[in-house]
Amino acid sequence: MSVGPDRICVVIARTRHKMIVAELEEAVKRGAKFLELRIDLLSKAVDFKRLTPAKKCAWMATIRRPMDGGRWPGTEPERQIIIRQAIVSGAFEWVDLETDIADKIPRFGPVKRVISYHNIDETPQDIDAIYEQMLKQDADVYKIAVRAQHPSDCRRIIDLQKRAPKPTVAFCMGDIGAPTRFIALKYWAPWIYAAFNPERQLAPGLPSFDEFRTTYPVRSIGAATRIFGLLGDPVGHSLSPILHNHMYRRMKVDAVYLPFKVPAGEFNAALDAFQSASVGGYSVTIPHKEAAAQAAVERESNVVSIGAANTLLARADGTFLAANTDHDAAIDSLREHLDKKAAAVGVPAPQFDQLFVLVLGAGGAARAIVHALIRNGAHVTITSRTNDKSAKLAVELGCKSIDWETRHSPVHYDIIINCTPVGMHPNMTQTPLQANFLKSGITVFDTIYNPEHTQLIRDAEGRGCSVLTGVDMFVRQAAKQIERFVGLQPPLDQMRELMRKALSPLTRAMAEEAEKTGGMGAEEEGGEEE
Ligand code: NAP
Repeated sequence: MSVGPDRICVVIARTRHKMIVAELEEAVKRGAKFLELRIDLLSKAVDFKRLTPAKKCAWMATIRRPMDGGRWPGTEPERQIIIRQAIVSGAFEWVDLETDIADKIPRFGPVKRVISYHNIDETPQDIDAIYEQMLKQDADVYKIAVRAQHPSDCRRIIDLQKRAPKPTVAFCMGDIGAPTRFIALKYWAPWIYAAFNPERQLAPGLPSFDEFRTTYPVRSIGAATRIFGLLGDPVGHSLSPILHNHMYRRMKVDAVYLPFKVPAGEFNAALDAFQSASVGGYSVTIPHKEAAAQAAVERESNVVSIGAANTLLARADGTFLAANTDHDAAIDSLREHLDKKAAAVGVPAPQFDQLFVLVLGAGGAARAIVHALIRNGAHVTITSRTNDKSAKLAVELGCKSIDWETRHSPVHYDIIINCTPVGMHPNMTQTPLQANFLKSGITVFDTIYNPEHTQLIRDAEGRGCSVLTGVDMFVRQAAKQIERFVGLQPPLDQMRELMRKALSPLTRAMAEEAEKTGGMGAEEEGGEEE
């Protein structure tokens, strides 16, 4: 039986009663069933009578001290008086009490108690002993929220959560710790915390309730749920979580795909730490693709040749097999494009060994694509702004390179592929090539998928080229990962449709607009209450 009223505890934190009431009502409209009211943020004395008419679901009262990450401005005796008032007010089913004061505040009627420990700086070495002491206290749920400074902190908290003998929600705050908030649900945490209004920045790494509605199926995470994720830095704006999680749901697979933000240099430590949660596989992105190839004990042949992996698959002994799905995705995407282009004019499709290709960039994507092209017989020339890098890559893979400054010289290429981030969101007016270099009839492939229609793609269309955007490659590399992770082939057309929805200019434009104004429906705060 579930311990809490819901698997999501939505945190409402505003400075004015009027705004709290507005958010309480809106949160319930959007599906919230359990709300934590952060009374410490109120700029005036709390008036429970103003709040209770908005009560439509279970509430928890929390008055957090600054030392625990809260904003309570008054004295400690005053805070404890308000906590007692909240408990007897009849408005709250739950109350949060810090472990050091919990014994001073007796259980009252049916009000359930969360006994909590917060550390906003670190995960203390004696966290297990702190938890042991807490377990002797009278609580319905124990909460541990500590800052992870290193991936190994996450391991200690996941392990604590796994062996919790009583209902416990234990997680790490901060970017590195963010996945532990979700992983706790797999190991019987009664709920996960989420901010109703993400702009409030209440706690580092606290996810937003909206993300649960659009991206993460948290209500269904349980003991049997398989965990996958994206390992990289940055990972915040990736569309991989949307794509993977929606496909798992559509295919009725009990799995969740999480972002793991791991800085350069922490890769091996993160892999080790999160294996405590038996992560089944990772997508790997910048800056870890080479580290992933090195960390794996088994490498597929293209990973060995390319020297980079974008996929890690956990083996039964906890070690990893490295694969590269960018490689096949790029070539499949190009092959289909060339076949369709030829069919449209009723000519035989060209083979790769008939084609001259210019590749811009010499990073991870270029490596995978150039390798795939050469394997298929294409005549490849590489150029990158750091000429040494493209020259070195050309020698390594066995193709030509030219200096970046000479990329516009009049040489004929059948295909031009952009593997640089030039033109990517938010620098959407930039392009790596002058438009007049693009000759009618050639194929221009931009691997960038956000935005789908880059300046390069728009210039190419304007010049009569056939164009291939990065969306198809992105979808294919993700589909190959999903197949490797869960053994099912997801439908590519559904994935393309999902990607286009997620990338739609209107969605992005509105999100950007909302960011600028501090969130939809935000109002200026800090003024006097009416
Ligand atoms: P990467 O390893 O960082 O390589 C980036 C390459 O672009 C490097 O050669 C870099 O040159 C060059 N570059 C960076 N900024 C530049 C600039 N302002 N002007 C000229 N060249 C510049 O990155 P990656 O993993 O290869 O990714 C590159 C692009 O591929 C990304 O934009 C990504 O969107 C796209 N991609 C798409 C897919 C897909 O599925 N559609 C998959 C993977 C990647 P330096 O070495 O001199 O910095």
